[in-house]
Amino acid sequence: MDGSSSPTAPKSAKLTPMMAQYHAIKARAGDALLFYRMGDFYELFFEDAIKAAGALDITLTRRGKKEGEDIPMCGVPFHAADTYLARLIRQGFSVAICEQMEDPAEAKKRGAKSVVARDIVRVVTPGTVTEEALLNPRAANWLATVSAAGSRMALAAADLSTGDVQVQALEATQLADVISALEPAELVHPDPLPEAIASGLSSFNLPVTAMPAHQFELKRATRRVCDAYGVNTLEGFGELGRAEVTALGVLIDYIELTQCGRIPPLRPVRHVQISDRMVIDGATRRSLELTLTEAGDRKGSLLGAIDRTRTASGGRLLSKWLSSPLLNVAEIRHRQDALQFLAEEPGLRTDLTEILADMPDLERGLSRIAVGRGGPRDLALIGRALNGAGGLARRLSQHNGAFEPPDSITRLGERCASAGHSPLNELGADVTAALKADLPYLARDGNFISEGYDQDLDETNALRQNSRRILTELEGQYRQLTGVKSLKIRHSKVLGYFIEVTQANAAALTNEEHSALFRHRQTLASAMRFGTDELADLDSRIAAAAEKSLSIELMLFERLCQQVMDCHQEISLLAEALAEIDVYTGLSSLAVEGDYCRPVIDESCYFHVQSGRHPVVENALGKSEGTSFIPNDCQLADEKENYLTIVTGPNMAGKSTFLRQNAVISVLAQMGSYVPAKSAHIGIVDRLFSRVGASDNLARGQSTFMVEMLETAAILNQATGRSFVILDEVGRGTSTFDGMSIAWATLEHLHEKIQCRALFATHYHELTSLSEKMTRLRNVSMAAREWKGDVIFLHEVRTGPADRSYGLAVAKLAGIPAAVIIRASRVLEELEAGGQSTNMPELPLFAEPHGFSETVLTDALHERIDEINPDRLSPREALDLIYELKDLRESV
Ligand code: ATP
Repeated sequence: MDGSSSPTAPKSAKLTPMMAQYHAIKARAGDALLFYRMGDFYELFFEDAIKAAGALDITLTRRGKKEGEDIPMCGVPFHAADTYLARLIRQGFSVAICEQMEDPAEAKKRGAKSVVARDIVRVVTPGTVTEEALLNPRAANWLATVSAAGSRMALAAADLSTGDVQVQALEATQLADVISALEPAELVHPDPLPEAIASGLSSFNLPVTAMPAHQFELKRATRRVCDAYGVNTLEGFGELGRAEVTALGVLIDYIELTQCGRIPPLRPVRHVQISDRMVIDGATRRSLELTLTEAGDRKGSLLGAIDRTRTASGGRLLSKWLSSPLLNVAEIRHRQDALQFLAEEPGLRTDLTEILADMPDLERGLSRIAVGRGGPRDLALIGRALNGAGGLARRLSQHNGAFEPPDSITRLGERCASAGHSPLNELGADVTAALKADLPYLARDGNFISEGYDQDLDETNALRQNSRRILTELEGQYRQLTGVKSLKIRHSKVLGYFIEVTQANAAALTNEEHSALFRHRQTLASAMRFGTDELADLDSRIAAAAEKSLSIELMLFERLCQQVMDCHQEISLLAEALAEIDVYTGLSSLAVEGDYCRPVIDESCYFHVQSGRHPVVENALGKSEGTSFIPNDCQLADEKENYLTIVTGPNMAGKSTFLRQNAVISVLAQMGSYVPAKSAHIGIVDRLFSRVGASDNLARGQSTFMVEMLETAAILNQATGRSFVILDEVGRGTSTFDGMSIAWATLEHLHEKIQCRALFATHYHELTSLSEKMTRLRNVSMAAREWKGDVIFLHEVRTGPADRSYGLAVAKLAGIPAAVIIRASRVLEELEAGGQSTNMPELPLFAEPHGFSETVLTDALHERIDEINPDRLSPREALDLIYELKDLRESV
C-alpha cells in the first residue's frame, strides 16, 4: 500500500521469476500481510509467514532458499480464507489479497517458465471489512480519519458495511472523547503525526495507519470528495471547514486504496455536532459499562440489558443512540412520543416485533452487493427485506387503535411503504421470482436461478438433464454389451466421465472383441477405468452446457445486482427506517416489560428520580431466587439550586450501584428511552462524569492513585454547572490523611465553583459533617443492620450519614479467618480509643510467640459465650455451637 520497497526484498538477480513477482507485489502491500494466491491456497512468505503462522497457530514451513537461507512460508486454503482473515483482522492485522489475474494455462502459452499474472485486488483492514464472517452483526464498523488544521481538528468516519459517512469538527481536547464514543475499528492519521493528535490517541490501543501529510492537502481532498460523490463543488455538503474536508478526502483516499480503485456507494455525509450530544469521556463509558463490560463483553453491559431489538441493524442503531445521548429537548421528546405510542398499543407492538424478527440485515446485504462481494443469499435477503417492509407498512397503515401515531412513526411507515411502490416492488418481485429456495453462498457455485425464470437457462439445463439421461442409457448399454452388471459411469475433475469396473471384470472390456471400443485410462488397486469416443463426446457436451448454464446464471446475477444498485438510495433509506422502527419497538417492549417510566426532560437543572433501579444489577438479581432489587430515590436539585450529595454506608451496601443507576438513568433519559423508575424529572445534563473505583492502568504505566487523580482532574477541569458527576471513593488510593484532604478539597470545589449535580460516595465519614458548613451539601446513607455479629444490607438509601462502616462485619462475611477478625477488632478498639491519632496502639504483636494466640482465643470465647442464650438454643443449634467452638480453637 505504500511506495517503499519491501525490507526483505533481495537483489532481483538471484530471484526466481515467481519470487521476483512476489517481492514487487509485496513492496506495494506495505505493512499488510500479503496473501499470495497459488492455485487453491493463499501463501505467505518471509516475515509475513512468521507473523501469520504465530497469529493463526498454523504450521510454518519453508519453500526454496534466499541467499542460502530457507524462505519461511505458510498457507491457508482459498475456500476457508474468510475464517483465517477474520482471525487476523481481529488481531489488528491488515491483509492484502493478491489474486491470479489469468488462467495458468494462459501463462503457459508464454513459455514454460512464465509466471501467472497476479495483482492485489483488495486490502482487508479492520476498518474496511464488509464480509459477514468478519463483522460483528450488532456493532458498527467505523473507519476513521483524523486531520488537524491549525487549532481545529476534524474526524471523518465511514462504515463500509452500511455506507454510513459522518464528519465532525472538534477541539484537540475533545478528540479522545469522540474516539471513545465512536469506537472506530481503525484510524488513519497524517504522517508525521501532529503532537495534538498524538496526545488524543495516547490512551487508545486501536489499529492505526499513517498516510503522508501531503494527502491532507485541501485542494486535493476537495477533489477526492467531489469525485466520490459525483458533484462539482462541496457547497451542497453544508459548511465544511478545512480540517473536515481534508479528513473526508483522506477517508475517500484510504477507501479507494484498500478497495483497489473501487469506491462503494456512500450515503450523504452526516454532520455530527459535538454540541448536540451529551459528552461522556472514555473513563465514564468504561465505568458505567455502557456498551461493553470492563471485560469487553456486550453481555452484562447496559446495552446488553436494554436491547430488545430484533434486527442486527436495529441493534447497531441502539448502540449508536446509547453512545451519544441527545441534548435537544424537542428531539428527545420526539423519540419518547414514538415509544409511548408503541408502549400503549400492545397489539401493534407485538405484530411489528414478529415482522421484524424475520427481517434480515438489509444494510449489510446491500453494502456487500455494492462493493461487488455479494452472493445469491444477499440478493435473496433484499427480496425478503422488501417483502417484510411491505408487511410492516401495511400493518402500520391498518392501525386503528385508541391512539394516533406520532409523526415519527407515520414518517417511518411511509418510508416502509416505498417497498410496495415502483421501483422497489418490481425489484422485490423479480428477485423472488429469480432465486431458488436453497442458495449457494457464492454466485460462482451456480445452480441458484429458479426454473422458468430465464428461457435460455432452462434450455441449457434441459440439455444437461438430457445428457444425464443419455449417460444412464449408455451405462445400461455398456453393461449389456460387456455383461458386467457392476459397470458404472463415474465422473472426476481430472478424468471427466469414465467407465469403471473392478479388476476382476476388466478382461470383459480389454478382450479382443471390445478393446477397440473401450480405451484404458487408469488403473487403481481395485478398479480399472476406461473411456469411449461416445462418452468423451457426451462429456464435452455436458461440460459445455454446465459452463453455459453458469455463465447465464452469472449474467443474470449481475443483472439483478445492477437492478439493486439502481435502487440503492431507496433501499438505503428503507434500511434506515427499518432500523429505527426496530429501536422504537425494542425500547417500548423494554419499557413495558421492565416497568419503566417516561421521564420528564426539560431545560431545568432538576434531577429527581423516584424509585430508580439499575437495569444490569436488577437483571442479575432477578436470576437468583429470594433477592430483588430495592428501588431508591435520588433528588439532586430543586427549582432553585443543585445539591451535592454525600453517600456513606458499609462496603457492599450498594453505594456504587446507587451512583451508577442515577448516571445510567440520565443516559437512558437523554437517548430518548424510558427509564427504570417510578417517575423521573431530569433537566438536560451536558456532560456526564463517572469515576467508580480506581484501577491500575498498567498498559499506560500509571499507578492506581495516578489514574484516580488524572480522572478527578479531568472532572474538575471540565465539568460545568449543567453536568452530572458521580465520584466514588476519591482519595482511596493514598494514605488516609492525604486521601481525605483530597476528597475534602474536591467536594468543596464541586460545591463552591462548579455547582453541578453530584453524588459523592466516600468512606471518610468525617466528610459528612461538612454539610453543617456547606449549604447545598446533603448526606444520605445506605442502611444496614447488624444481627448476631453479621451485617445485613438493606440496600435502602436513607437521609443522613451512616453511623458506622461495618468493615469488619463485611470482612467476616467474606470468610476472613476468625482469628484475624478478632485481632482486627482489638486494633480497631485501640485506634478508636486514641481518637484522631494514628499512633500505633500498644498491643502485643501478631508475631509474638507466646500470649497472642491465647489472648485471641480467650477474647473470641468470651465474645461468643456472651452471645449464647442457653434457654433459646434448640438441640440442633447446641450441636452446631459445639462444632463452631471447636473450629474456633483450630483457627487460632
Ligand atoms: P463497596 O463500598 O465495597 O464498593 P458498595 O457499597 O459500593 O460496595 P455495591 O458494589 O454497589 O456496594 O453493591 C454490592 C452488591 O449489593 C451488588 O452487587 C448487588 O448485588 C447488591 N445491591 C446493590 N444495590 C442493591 C439494591 N438497590 N437492591 C438490591 N441489591 C443491591
